Amino acid sequence: MADLSRARDRMVDVHLAGRDIRDRNVLDAMREVPREVFVDAGMREFAYEDSPLPIGEGQTISQPYIVALMIQAAGIAPGERVLEVGAGSGYAAAVMSRIAGRVHTIERHAPLAAQARERFEALRYDNIELRVGDGSRGWPEAAPFDAILVAAGAPDTPPALREQLAIGGRLVIPVGEDGQHQRLRRITRTGPETYKQDDLGGVMFVPLIGEQGWAEDGRRAA
Ligand code: SAM
Repeated sequence: MADLSRARDRMVDVHLAGRDIRDRNVLDAMREVPREVFVDAGMREFAYEDSPLPIGEGQTISQPYIVALMIQAAGIAPGERVLEVGAGSGYAAAVMSRIAGRVHTIERHAPLAAQARERFEALRYDNIELRVGDGSRGWPEAAPFDAILVAAGAPDTPPALREQLAIGGRLVIPVGEDGQHQRLRRITRTGPETYKQDDLGGVMFVPLIGEQGWAEDGRRAA
């Protein structure tokens, strides 16, 4: 595979540091992880454009800027425990694994999960655990988490995900009334029963399909 490290540096300098990504851990991690490994062979030449790309099963690998924005908003610190809902290609989990102590990630499409797992193994990123299933219910056995990132748009914040936050933990999730346009929310657990919410702006994600998300037919599941 051609060495794309210069294109990767340029992506970080222009599209991330050149905008409002300031978290040094995020910038370093995105300089390290080869995004070209997480896209289909025919898409590699586009790996360092700041855009989403198709990954099969009607899903996408998110735009690099959005990946950086969400991880920065979650304020992931070295050693922390992270849950991602919507592993997709595995790219965002790979980036977070370079900062966090342990990353748990869930994907509902088994073929995407299998590919992501192969990529983690090839890169020897061995602090990532991946499971196939409905991530709208979280991963209760592995909770609590310091940060939870949801890479798909939900009709509302799934209660299971709030409950699986550690005290001081942050949940970053796109929430919207229709299946395509959302507001990015950050929910911080300030105490056992208390949460604080920030609005981080408008975003567009594929829908979160599951028990605490949307039904397959586009209606609210819960
Ligand atoms: N983080 C991914 C990456 O880096 O490639 C991008 C994810 S893509 C925008 C959203 C993913 O969420 C899709 O792969 C989709 O299948 C998955 N998804 C949607 N609903 C889900 C659910 N309830 N549980 C787990 N995965 C889900």
